[in-house]
Amino acid sequence: MRRGQVAYAKSKSGKRKGARIGAPRFKAQRKARLAFRFTTGTIRVDADGRHVTLPRLGTLRTHEPAVKLLARVQAGTARILSATVRHERGRWFVSFQAEVKRDLERVARPDAAVGIDLGVKTLAVMADSTGEIRTVANPGHYDAARAQLRRASRIVSRRQGPDRRTGQKPSKRREKANTARNRVHHRVANLREDALHKLTTSVAAEYGTVVVEDLNVAGMLRNRRMARRIADAGFGEIRRLLDYKTGQRHATRMVVASRWYPSSKTCSGCGAVEAELPLHVRTYQCDACHLVIDRDDNAALNLAALAAAAVTGTGVAGDQGTAPVVSKPRGADRKTRATRLRRMAEAGRAGGATLPHQRQTETRDGTQAEALTLW
Ligand SMILES: [Zn+2]
Repeated sequence: MRRGQVAYAKSKSGKRKGARIGAPRFKAQRKARLAFRFTTGTIRVDADGRHVTLPRLGTLRTHEPAVKLLARVQAGTARILSATVRHERGRWFVSFQAEVKRDLERVARPDAAVGIDLGVKTLAVMADSTGEIRTVANPGHYDAARAQLRRASRIVSRRQGPDRRTGQKPSKRREKANTARNRVHHRVANLREDALHKLTTSVAAEYGTVVVEDLNVAGMLRNRRMARRIADAGFGEIRRLLDYKTGQRHATRMVVASRWYPSSKTCSGCGAVEAELPLHVRTYQCDACHLVIDRDDNAALNLAALAAAAVTGTGVAGDQGTAPVVSKPRGADRKTRATRLRRMAEAGRAGGATLPHQRQTETRDGTQAEALTLW
């Protein structure tokens, strides 16, 4: 509620990014997310690293050890500000918001840039500034689980469901079947999250500059033919993860190419721009220099080249926005800060399963969200 009010006030005064939002609405209790935050009282990670102590709840054992946060607290480089407990994907998690002093991690190739072209067939085509191209296959976790989900859903629909008119309650057998179905969904979400973290962590740890496209993910999700695959690939999440990993962990830069930059239609060899390039044309052929290249490879190379246009030097200096096509180089303004707020440490415990609620995007000033899984 509080957060909703803040977002609304910012929207009204024009400070908030994104579409205009309405006044906060009241939520029905059954629709509310199971989440709450402690800002006062005893909030700590116990000395064994296996327990956390929270107000009212007392000491709870965590499924995963919270040793990283504990070590930081003991070394005096972290101070816990608040704790948020939430129920998600059938587990209980606790996240700590902490003020953390951390050293920046060096990247392997600070002078190199990489352009990332996201797609559905291959999740990512990455071209670096030396011209080397790597592809990452789309793991397609959701598609892999569809048969399983179909079976689980069929079982659910054959059980006695709820009926609001007659007041019929769902049967125990239905709830059990629904729990089984939710478990499949949760597993897909966990697999996806893991894969995206691994991809973005390795990219952020290697390059001094990362160039991504400003994809209109919300718009693409409105296309019903594309929605399932786009959502499964997690384009928006890749961008979000890369943004904070480059900005906060390595203080490298992420360049976001304008939504209207013709990365696919431009020739990576000579710079000529084709007028039309329908989506089904998978190979790029340049009329000017007769270059023949895979469509996605071409786009990734163009994005990598964009970095060179936007960045002069090593990417450590803060000269931003030199190229007109680059809309928003990120992270350069924050990198000298020694102290940063950061949400650390997550924890979960197996419990009942509910349908995953839609993830809300939270904007918190000065807060960096970094999820370490604890239990
Ligand atoms: Zn050409």
